[in-house]
Amino acid sequence: MKKIITLFFYLISLSFIIFSLKFIPHIPNRYLPMLELLPFVLMFISIILGIKFNRSQLIYVTSLFSLVYIYFFFFLEYGQNQQQLILNSMTILISINVALISLYSERGLITLIGLSRFLIIALQIIGVSWLIYTKHPEWNHFVNQTIFPALQIKLLFFSQVALLSVLVSVFITSISCVYHSNPFRTAILASMCLVLYAITFPTKDITSISILFSFSLLLPLLTLINVSYRMAYLDELTDLPGRRALNETMNKLGSQYVIAMLDVDHFKKFNDTYGHDAGDDVLRLLGNRLKSITGGGKPFRYGGEEFTVVFSGMNLSEASEHLEKLRKNVADNKFALRKQERRKKNKRSSKKHNQRSVKVTISIGYAEQNDKAKTPEKVLKLSDKALYRAKKKGRNCISK
Ligand code: GH3
Ligand code: MG
Ligand code: MG
Repeated sequence: MKKIITLFFYLISLSFIIFSLKFIPHIPNRYLPMLELLPFVLMFISIILGIKFNRSQLIYVTSLFSLVYIYFFFFLEYGQNQQQLILNSMTILISINVALISLYSERGLITLIGLSRFLIIALQIIGVSWLIYTKHPEWNHFVNQTIFPALQIKLLFFSQVALLSVLVSVFITSISCVYHSNPFRTAILASMCLVLYAITFPTKDITSISILFSFSLLLPLLTLINVSYRMAYLDELTDLPGRRALNETMNKLGSQYVIAMLDVDHFKKFNDTYGHDAGDDVLRLLGNRLKSITGGGKPFRYGGEEFTVVFSGMNLSEASEHLEKLRKNVADNKFALRKQERRKKNKRSSKKHNQRSVKVTISIGYAEQNDKAKTPEKVLKLSDKALYRAKKKGRNCISK
C-alpha cells in the first residue's frame, strides 16, 4: 500500500513538474539566469551532503545527471549529426548506470567497493566521450544499428539501441523499487524519467531543461533529507517517533498535559515461547495500534517494549478514557503475525507455535503535571511509578 502511495506521489510530482514548464514564458527575464544556474547549486549541495552522509547512490546519480546538464549548458551547439550521437550515447549511459545504481546496496563512497563503482561510471563516460570525440565509426554503428528491422519505430531522435536501453532500464529499476523498498531507488527512477524527458525536449530551450534538471537533482536530495530525518526521529521497527522526538515534544509542552507509559506484560516470556522475531512482529503491530489512539495522543517508542503517549491540553480523567480504550483494544484483539515460513532465521519457535494469531496485554501508568511534578521529565517519572503500580495490581490495567 505504502509503495503504491509513493508511486502515485511521484507520478503526480512528475506531471506537475512537466506541467509547470508551461509557465516559463511568464517568468520575468531577469530570473532566467538564476534558474539556469540552479542545477549547479543543487549539484554542489548534493555532492557535499553525499560525501558528508557517505551516500554513494546520491553521488553517482548526481555526477551522472550533472554531466548531462553541463553538456546542455556549455556544449549544446555541437554539430547536428554529432548531437544526435551524443544524446543517444548519453541515453544509453544513463539507462545502464541508473539500472546498476538501483541494484546496488548502499556501501558508502569511501570504501573499496564504493570507489570501484564510481570508477566504473567514470571509465564509461571517459571511454564513450573519447569514442565520440574521435568519431569512431564502430561506436556510431553500434548506437544507430537496427535491432528489429521489422519495427520502424523512430521516437524523436532515439535510436533503437537507445530506446531499448531505456525500456530495459525502466523495467529493471521498477522491479528493484518494488522488491527492495528503498526510497532512493524510487527517487532515482523518477529523476531518470525527468532527465530523459529533458534529453528528448524538442526545443532544447535551456530554461526548461534547467527546470527539469533542478527537479531531477532535487528528488534524490530531498530523499536523503527525508531518510536522515526518519533515521534521527523514527524508530525503525515500529515506525513510531523515538526517544529524541519524545524529548523534543516534551520541551514544547504547555501547562496542561498527561504523559502515559505503556509496557507489554510478560514480554520476556512471550519471546521465550514464540521467538524474538515474533516478539518484534508484535511490537510492530502494537505500534500500529498506538498510532490510532484516540483523543489526539501522540505515541512514541520509549525503548524495548515500552511506549509513551503524550496528551497535550488534557487532564487525567479525560486521558484515562482513551488509555482504557487502547488497553481494551490490545487485550481483546489478537495480533496476526507474519507467516512463520517467511521468517527464515527463526529456528527457535517450534511447529507447535506456528500459529498466526497471538494475544498480548499491556499495562499503563499515567500522570499529569502538579505541584510536585512541574516539568515533563518529572511527570514522566510519576507515570513510570504509576506503571509499576499497574503491574503490581495484576497487569492488563491502567493506573494513575
Ligand atoms: P512485565 O510484565 O513485568 O513487564 O514482564 P516483562 O517480561 O515484559 O518485563 P521485562 O522488562 O523484564 O522484559 C522486557 C523484555 O522485553 C525483555 C526483552 O526480551 C523484551 N524486549 C525488549 N525489547 C525488545 C525488542 O525490541 N524486540 C523483542 N522481540 N523483545 C524485546
Ligand atoms: Mg519493560
Ligand atoms: Mg514488560
